[in-house]
Amino acid sequence: MTAQLIDGNALSKQLRSQVAARAQALKAKGITPGLAVVLVGDNPASQVYVRNKVKACEDAGLHSVLEKYDAHLRESDLLARVEALNQDASIHGILVQLPLPAHIDAQKVIEAISPAKDVDGFHIASAGALMTGMKGFWPCTPYGCMKMLESIGYKLKGKHAVVIGRSNIVGKPMALMLLQQNATVTICHSATPDLKAMTLQADVIVAAVGKRNVLTADMVKPGAVVLDVGMNRNDEGKLCGDVDFDGVKEVASYITPVPGGVGPMTITMLLVNTLEAAESAAH
Ligand code: NAP
Repeated sequence: MTAQLIDGNALSKQLRSQVAARAQALKAKGITPGLAVVLVGDNPASQVYVRNKVKACEDAGLHSVLEKYDAHLRESDLLARVEALNQDASIHGILVQLPLPAHIDAQKVIEAISPAKDVDGFHIASAGALMTGMKGFWPCTPYGCMKMLESIGYKLKGKHAVVIGRSNIVGKPMALMLLQQNATVTICHSATPDLKAMTLQADVIVAAVGKRNVLTADMVKPGAVVLDVGMNRNDEGKLCGDVDFDGVKEVASYITPVPGGVGPMTITMLLVNTLEAAESAAH
């Protein structure tokens, strides 16, 4: 079997045009959805990420502000900036790009963001809302994965999903979202003794580890759906995921590529969250 691709670029294009239309409708009421992106320091990967986020906002007709600070910025000054953005009526979403320099307590900064503007979904209030099934912002990467499953009409009820990775930004929220859709969920991590025994039972596998070839063809049940969140570099320096794509695509029914899979969906869901924050503020 050769798996069908779930094309994150194509799905993003579709969803972003819906965001643009809804943003236009809000603008007609005098409200332009606004995202503030805060970058501290000069981490090269972070610079690329924030540039892409700001550009995606502009392309969809959202207002965006990029605030760049020196790596030596004091924690108290960053907290003051976040508070100012909380009070700024033209800003509906606030994103502080992680990682932050070591002298700044990232969790403290995240908790300083108003939950109503927490479009990254990392605030403890957003995490609690997801945990309890209440309304709140979902972290963009696992939210994007859910949209990819929705795009192929996949019904999770009664299915077994295996999530590899348990970070607060991907693995854990991913597991909760799958659970909310009535999948039976197994979460694997670095202390899981026999990963293959787990993944072979899965109808859906989400790999969110950050290591190449964590998932190979012999670990996948024929017909499973495989979502690859990982972002790694191969020996040639090219972007690749956690999944051995060439092998697994011969076994899976659907698979996401890297690049062009989950990556663009993450930014798309950031736009969706920002738009929805603005829509909520307008009511
Ligand atoms: P993370 O915080 O480093 O978490 C990685 C997880 O993988 C941990 O829970 C770890 O287990 C687990 N793990 C490590 N080695 C393992 C192994 N051999 N078998 C099973 N589990 C293992 O990373 P993250 O922030 O969740 O990100 C994961 C990957 O996704 C990275 O490549 C990152 O760059 C990528 N990512 C992509 C996007 C996107 O938009 N495409 C967004 C976010 C992240 P322990 O908890 O036991 O240490």
